[in-house]
Amino acid sequence: MHNASDAIVVPLSRRDPAAAARRVAVIAADLAPERDTDFSVPDTEVAALAGEGLLHAPLPDDLGGIGLGMDVATASMLRHVLRTIGGASLSLGRLYEGHVNAVRLVARYGTPAQMRLLAAEADAGRLSAVWNAQGTDKLRLVDGRLVGGKIYTSGIGIIRRPLLTAETADGTVMLLPDVAMATGDLSGWTVLGMRASMTGRADFTGIAVADGEIIGTPGDYYRSPLFAGGAWRVLAVQLGALEQLMALYRQLLGERGRAGDPVQRARFGEAVAMLETARLWTARAAAVAEDSPRPDGEIDALVNLARYSFDRAALGVIERIQRAGGLSTMVRPNPIERIVRDLTTYLRQPFPDAALDDAARWALAERPVHADLGER
Ligand SMILES: Cc1cc2nc3c(=O)[nH]c(=O)nc-3n(C[C@H](O)[C@H](O)[C@H](O)COP(=O)(O)OP(=O)(O)OC[C@H]3O[C@@H](n4cnc5c(N)ncnc54)[C@H](O)[C@@H]3O)c2cc1C
Repeated sequence: MHNASDAIVVPLSRRDPAAAARRVAVIAADLAPERDTDFSVPDTEVAALAGEGLLHAPLPDDLGGIGLGMDVATASMLRHVLRTIGGASLSLGRLYEGHVNAVRLVARYGTPAQMRLLAAEADAGRLSAVWNAQGTDKLRLVDGRLVGGKIYTSGIGIIRRPLLTAETADGTVMLLPDVAMATGDLSGWTVLGMRASMTGRADFTGIAVADGEIIGTPGDYYRSPLFAGGAWRVLAVQLGALEQLMALYRQLLGERGRAGDPVQRARFGEAVAMLETARLWTARAAAVAEDSPRPDGEIDALVNLARYSFDRAALGVIERIQRAGGLSTMVRPNPIERIVRDLTTYLRQPFPDAALDDAARWALAERPVHADLGER
């Protein structure tokens, strides 16, 4: 158990998370091809995150962190960190984003003692995560014990204290239990991409949850602006991969001597514009989401529009790179083949139709169509 009075030696890298992320990225990029197998475990990469102080980074100062991504002042730094890690390995980026999300939710709705539970995990070199996705049976908290399980649990097998959502008579609550005794199952993660994200399913039936492991009040998890707004972090991870694809696209045209062809150039120009769209929306979504005086509805709508626009841009880039390079971009071990699979998989995020619909409702109700969205 972490004790705030413990003397904490803070590595310099915790003070410079961008440089720390770059060092982790070198390791993760090197390992990414061999991690592209079913059920692979990115243990070296997680150890690198720990060694560089990035597991602690989102925690407050007294727990060895710098509050990375916990407020508007550090949002831009987190964006760069996520993008750097995502550019090296989308699976590792997914895991790290889940960790930051868990810390953020506990920082916002939890207690100092609960933050210390997460700090103890970071001290042990373990990530946390947010496991919300449900199969047909929702996870329930009944008389202090869990009944049921979760699907799409990234990090299953290496994460011991995830933030779980569970149903109670009073609504959905967030929990931070020790799930060491849970039954995890990765066997169903025979997926197109993101194979090293350890995204499985788990049964938590019988696990006891102490009162001190219940975070906030029922309904907090879905509360604006953190729920919809936090999606900007996922875009930041994905942006790293998109930038990586564009670098490979440029290299491909050069190596094949096709950059002089006007059709190839026009197509590349379209992809450059799409990448810039994705970048601008990601930066905008991060800035808006962390700008707390804004109305919640505005934050939700703008981040939902960012999700939609990013998805279109990313799929557009993928289409262009595949047309430009042809069949060889679909043949292993071309890194384009792997990154496209990872990104295509990770782009599948919850409720895309509802997210765009909510944004459209907001724009119809709150904004004249000619007004700049969310400009002040
Ligand atoms: C690599 C990866 C890692 C993940 N890790 C985690 C994790 O650690 N924790 C976690 O909680 N989740 C995780 N998820 C799951 C994620 O949060 C989403 O739940 C999941 O990606 C949703 O994907 P889906 O396409 O199956 O969604 P769906 O919601 O099934 O959407 C598919 C389509 O159906 C539409 N749709 C959805 N609901 C309705 C409806 N009621 N009526 C009509 N249409 C509807 C959607 O708009 C979309 O067009 C992960 C996902 C990925 C890809």
